[in-house]
Amino acid sequence: MNLGNCPRCGKLYTLNLRELCPACMKLIEKEYEKCVTYLREQKGATIHEVSEATEVSVRQITKFIKEGRISIANAPNLAYPCEVCGILIRESNMCDSCRTRLTRELRQATSTDQDHKTGSTHERQTYRAVDNERKY
Ligand SMILES: [Zn+2]
Ligand SMILES: [Zn+2]
Repeated sequence: MNLGNCPRCGKLYTLNLRELCPACMKLIEKEYEKCVTYLREQKGATIHEVSEATEVSVRQITKFIKEGRISIANAPNLAYPCEVCGILIRESNMCDSCRTRLTRELRQATSTDQDHKTGSTHERQTYRAVDNERKY
């Protein structure tokens, strides 16, 4: 039996796949229900409005969205903060400018490895006539 501290409330509990103690899991389910109910009525709500109305943290709502439990397809104003700068986005983990900057930095770090594609060398196929061996 694996015991660990719940990252949310700090209580000791038997480790499970959800990484939360049963009490917190139940709490989060309740929070999820609250968000979904609110969004069903307030389709144009922003993440901050949902957070204020339901008292669920923006971080937790972001988690629901990223887990695919809350769909932003039907909520035009619902977006979550970029992991780096906090600007509101609707896809991936970070905004475009952070991603662009990160890829640029990454490219510089891995030096300029330009792969020169070698042009296909003309390989002349030599036709080899095979002499039939005659058996006498
Ligand atoms: Zn807990
Ligand atoms: Zn950003």
